[in-house]
Amino acid sequence: MEKSIKLGISPCLLGMNVRYDGGHKLDRFITNTLGQYVEYVPVCPEVGCGLPIPREAMRLEGDPDSPRLVTIRTKQDMTDRLVQWAKKRVVELEKEDLCGFIFKSNSPSSGLERVKVYNEKGMPVKKGVGVFARIFMDHFPLLPAGDEGHLHNPELRENFIERIFSLKRWREVLETKQSRGNIVDFHTRHKLLILSHSPKHYQIMGRLVAKAGDLSLKELYQQYQTLFMESLRLQATHKKNVNILQHMMGYFREQLSSDEKQELLELIDHYRESYIPLIVPITLINHYVRKYDQPYLKQQLYLNPHPLELQLRNHV
Ligand code: SF4
Repeated sequence: MEKSIKLGISPCLLGMNVRYDGGHKLDRFITNTLGQYVEYVPVCPEVGCGLPIPREAMRLEGDPDSPRLVTIRTKQDMTDRLVQWAKKRVVELEKEDLCGFIFKSNSPSSGLERVKVYNEKGMPVKKGVGVFARIFMDHFPLLPAGDEGHLHNPELRENFIERIFSLKRWREVLETKQSRGNIVDFHTRHKLLILSHSPKHYQIMGRLVAKAGDLSLKELYQQYQTLFMESLRLQATHKKNVNILQHMMGYFREQLSSDEKQELLELIDHYRESYIPLIVPITLINHYVRKYDQPYLKQQLYLNPHPLELQLRNHV
């Protein structure tokens, strides 16, 4: 597959020796597995703002909502230096067309959530966001963002990767001539995928698409993009997936024998009970889609939202 999905990344996760101690935090899923499908854009804020390797370790101190970045031993405040650099860097990153960012967890510069912030007595609370991560997310609020810890949780991994592939497909629509027809087509192909995350968003997006003629193309695209990315951020659940599977089964009412229907119903039930992973009923439905050449389901991204080799729907 063409490497056309660009992800920003904390380069210590790629094995680059940029950490304060001159080491790295290589993550093999990121390099060896996901790395086959994406192109990484490394961004180390501490090295980027001119600090050396190795350097004194830092931590967040003060108010968890706007903490200071301070070196632990000599108490130098690095906040302004890093903030100044980060504000320029995020503007440069606009040109990269990133589909997401993978941050290094727990880092006072790059951590996305629950980073330790120390009070004046030296006691930590896990409520902080790394200085660069905060500026990045404020600048790109809709971009999928995760850390290596999320990628080791099967559900969060699936959600993150589904979002980066979805955003890539959306960007491809943006590259074509803008038209209401293109939005309708995109929305139709993503119907079941959106429903598996948020039936509420699907309803709102349906109303938006229905009144597409009342809005300028710019407004329509902007509103649709926001709703699309917000909907996918919500976790797909077993209950929502079961609804989609049952809905898809309805498309084969005429073709399936009673034995085949029974088999599919049993698989959906086993998935509902968490005995088998989602990929099992999906594989059978994909088989029926091909066998009966079902035109509507054939175009549904829900059935193939990301490469099978990533094994994202293989967990129970
Ligand atoms: S600042 Fe971020 S990218 Fe750089 S070494 Fe620390 S965690 Fe890794």
